[in-house]
Amino acid sequence: MTADNISTNANAKNRGVVIIGANLAGGRAAEALRMAGYEKPITLIGEEPSPPYERPPLSKDVLIQPDELPDQFYIKDDSYYPDNDIDLRLGVRAESLNIDEQKVTLSTGAEIGFEKVILATGARARELNIEGSDLDGVHYLRALQDARELSKELQPGARIGLIGMGVIGAEVAASARKRGCEVVCIEPLAIPMARALGPRFGAWLAEIHRQEGVDVRLGCGVKTILGSDGRVSGVVLSDDSTLELDALVVGIGVIPNVELAEAAGLETDNGIVVDAFAQSSCPLVYAVGDVANSPLYFGGRGRCETYQNAQDQAIAAAKAIAGQPDEYLKAQWFWTDQFDINLQVLGDVISEAEVIIRGDENSRNFTAFFVRDNIIRGVLTVNQPRDMAAGRRMLERSITVDTAALADPDIDLRKLIKKAR
Ligand code: FAD
Ligand code: NDP
Repeated sequence: MTADNISTNANAKNRGVVIIGANLAGGRAAEALRMAGYEKPITLIGEEPSPPYERPPLSKDVLIQPDELPDQFYIKDDSYYPDNDIDLRLGVRAESLNIDEQKVTLSTGAEIGFEKVILATGARARELNIEGSDLDGVHYLRALQDARELSKELQPGARIGLIGMGVIGAEVAASARKRGCEVVCIEPLAIPMARALGPRFGAWLAEIHRQEGVDVRLGCGVKTILGSDGRVSGVVLSDDSTLELDALVVGIGVIPNVELAEAAGLETDNGIVVDAFAQSSCPLVYAVGDVANSPLYFGGRGRCETYQNAQDQAIAAAKAIAGQPDEYLKAQWFWTDQFDINLQVLGDVISEAEVIIRGDENSRNFTAFFVRDNIIRGVLTVNQPRDMAAGRRMLERSITVDTAALADPDIDLRKLIKKAR
């Protein structure tokens, strides 16, 4: 769809931005629009009952200490929205997006006209579809209510099974161990968090989990979920062995919420296809966060399911709409907290590269640099946030590095950056 075949609509002149999806990306987009001086109406529509909040604590703090939400759990105070003239509508779904008439129709039947739309509809948990999947005690983790329900299961001694050992599986395993549960992770691949960490550090993580008492079953699937009186009682594994369990958590990835965009005729391909300014195939519509399929830093495109991306891409869309376009093309970064480990990953740690270790890889304190042609393409830090800060600068500036110096913990990385100037 192009600007040419969008009907002109005189009333649209005084219309503002409608943001669909009121979590991190949607909330940050509204905030960034006002910060960029956008003065027209902003409507932020979210189907969840809560104002925009942080999902990261859901698999960590909220599971460990379910009775209190962490400080700054909500991305803004309740007063922020009225104070900044942002019309926040919660518990309401956007049902359709009519681009020709420049209006969104809500589940209440209300219609809102727009000048521009930002789709921040995110993703939903992929559901398991095997016998027993609908039993009580089978959990997913995406929203605050999911975390509250799951936290009730994490009683000391409870036997918790995790299907999939991606980030959800690994983080929930760590939180459940902290709550005193017996934990078994069942992952069909040979390593956990494979897509995020690659083979070497995925294997390293599996070993950490084993040291912490998690029963890590790799290369192993679940055939059937067993139940008793409507509640999960165990699983039959792919090798036909049986495990007795009190609850199950399914973490097998997410599906982007593209239905609204597809129905409106926007280009989609595992997400809503956007350019480096977060603009979709229709110039009136932007897409940001987990739902967007964007150009990637090292070439190609893809969907980024990270906090940083949701936040920064939302800012890029807001700036473009406010007439201050600023290309968004950043190396991806995410963190995960498991046991006493803060693990951070920047850039490409999967493709073939020379891996330079700074510190002791067999410990819980080291940094790995992924270097190709003496340029850093990826950084992985284990309890070394300072190295991540320095590594980020080196990666973003494509500094030519001396790999021997990188590996030497006695050499200050900041000096290497200065030297390269
Ligand atoms: P979402 O958070 O999915 O929000 C989309 C919102 O849109 C939802 O509220 C949805 O209900 C709403 N919506 C969808 N369709 C409609 C509609 N038609 N009408 C109205 N509303 C609609 N990332 C990290 O980097 N580090 C971490 O430690 C980390 N921890 C995480 C822990 C958990 C448990 C989860 C689930 C994610 C975690 N993430 C982490 C990832 C990060 O939280 C996400 O990348 C981020 O939340 C994406 O934000 P988003 O706004 O694009 O999408
Ligand atoms: P991930 O994509 O990280 O991992 C899913 C895992 O399940 C993969 O190992 C996947 O293997 C496997 N899998 C896929 N299908 C099946 C199946 N049918 N049976 C068993 N295993 C299967 O997703 P998660 O569910 O762990 O996380 C969901 C979302 O939450 C993501 O967007 C993630 O970014 C976010 N999140 C992020 C955190 C962080 O950044 N710290 C923390 C918690 C959540 P394969 O790769 O082969 O498909």
